[in-house]
Amino acid sequence: MDTVTTITAIERWLTEKSVSGKKIGFVPTMGALHQGHISLISASASDNDYTICSIFVNPIQFNNAKDLEKYPRMPDEDMELLSANGCDLLFMPDINEMYPEPVDKEYEFGDLGKVMEGAHRPGHFNGVAIVVNRLFEIVKPHRAYFGLKDYQQLLIIREMAAQEGHNIEIIGCPIVRESDGLAMSSRNMRLTVEQRKNAPQIYKSLEYAAENYQGHSVISLKKSVEEMLGSIPGTSLEYIEFADAETLMPITTWSDASHCVVCVAIYFGEIRLIDNIRVY
Ligand code: AMP
Repeated sequence: MDTVTTITAIERWLTEKSVSGKKIGFVPTMGALHQGHISLISASASDNDYTICSIFVNPIQFNNAKDLEKYPRMPDEDMELLSANGCDLLFMPDINEMYPEPVDKEYEFGDLGKVMEGAHRPGHFNGVAIVVNRLFEIVKPHRAYFGLKDYQQLLIIREMAAQEGHNIEIIGCPIVRESDGLAMSSRNMRLTVEQRKNAPQIYKSLEYAAENYQGHSVISLKKSVEEMLGSIPGTSLEYIEFADAETLMPITTWSDASHCVVCVAIYFGEIRLIDNIRVY
């Protein structure tokens, strides 16, 4: 695996590999890699001739300064994992490389950008869209891989790519979980032993929703799931939404949507975890 930190170097790499005719798969990440990220690398490696991964902790997508400061950084371990799992090029730019000038672009994603993460993390999706657009312009991949773990982000990226006219296939990959059901996340390593012990309750609640939607109204099932999540010690539930899987608009009856996803954001102390499940 090659590693570069500048746009000039990545352009040189792409030219050297004379990629014309070759397919490039791209996996943007913020590092502190785990098997969830690696599943995206593997999917890209099997679909494409070359796989490029980026690691950049993007400050403009953090609406919480402490979250940015505490975000785990472990480049040596990341490099080892990537090179062992089929990544051909790692792009690790610094902030000046990514943002030589201040960015003031404002995307408009309509209601998709206003619900759930959009409502609770002001500016987050704008920051995500700016950085991914910039990375797409630099890497010019044929395909880009994103986790369904960040379900709303995946829909936002698709919308951004359409607005920007990127001819890139955006591929959503399944959520990779620990054996006890907890969705893998770089933030999990910040959980205390006690918090980690309780964290699988998130997925248990989501599974309960997926297994019990028949025979319950949206309202009563949402209430039960809220109660389950509310009973996890030391946590504070930010939102739980039953939403149309295509538009993410909240539903109040099952017939409101042909597909439904249940999305949750919950604080364990100051650590914010998100997860979701497709109900039907
Ligand atoms: P991040 O480094 O957290 O920005 O994540 C980079 C990419 O990895 C995003 O597309 C995430 O959705 C994806 N990802 C993170 N965790 C998981 C997981 N547990 N399973 C699948 N994909 C994931």
